[in-house]
Amino acid sequence: MARRPFIAGNWKLNLGPKDATALAEGLRQQLPKLDDVTVAVFPTALSVTGVISALQGAPIGVGLQEITAAPTGAFTGTNSAQLGRQAGCEYCLVGHSERRQLFGETDSGVAKKLLAAIEGGLLPILCIGETLEQRKAGRADAVVHSQLAGGLARLQPDQVAAVTVAYEPVWAIGTGETATPQQAQDIHASIRAWLRSNVGSVADDIRIQYGGSVKPANAAELLGQPDIDGALVGGASLTADSFAAIVQAGSDSL
Ligand code: PEP
Repeated sequence: MARRPFIAGNWKLNLGPKDATALAEGLRQQLPKLDDVTVAVFPTALSVTGVISALQGAPIGVGLQEITAAPTGAFTGTNSAQLGRQAGCEYCLVGHSERRQLFGETDSGVAKKLLAAIEGGLLPILCIGETLEQRKAGRADAVVHSQLAGGLARLQPDQVAAVTVAYEPVWAIGTGETATPQQAQDIHASIRAWLRSNVGSVADDIRIQYGGSVKPANAAELLGQPDIDGALVGGASLTADSFAAIVQAGSDSL
């Protein structure tokens, strides 16, 4: 059975409550009827509640960009899956390369957050991907396999089904450089093979998104690859027109 494409927009540290709500309203108008693509957006935590209200009843989920592993308590400055769920979120990102690079996130921290996301009622997107140096050294497959092993380490087999994987080569994020469809497909196939060997048949149901300068002009070719099941989109998710065009490419890929 074909995996339902999953297109997600990571708004990063952009769009305060007013602008985020306006974008959500634009998306609501442009994507009124979606029955074959899963769509979610990830505003800043400050903008989450306004976006959820603006998208009430629309087939567009909302998620947190970051959680801590604890559900509640003395953890100043963070958010949790449990509180995100209470606010109306359905998803969260875990292990985005910007968190790994700028905030020292490790695979063992990612593993704790992935479990916390699922226990707190959110569907996590586990972000993995190699740097340019690692790719040049021929280590791209080994790096993503090790990030998968580290990140999924605390999950029971039945919990792995809740995870979406986003393959995001670090050298392609926000740089305008995109992996070629073949480069991306090769790594996606390698991720799928690792999952088959390590988590069993659920591997065929897990969606693997590609992320890294996805835009309307390259989305169709990327999403047409057999193991690319969606996209995690940064810059091109900040306007309703371009994000809607990528969602349409996801629908067309079926
Ligand atoms: C991202 O932030 O996950 C991302 C892929 O960004 P961009 O599309 O801007 O490269």
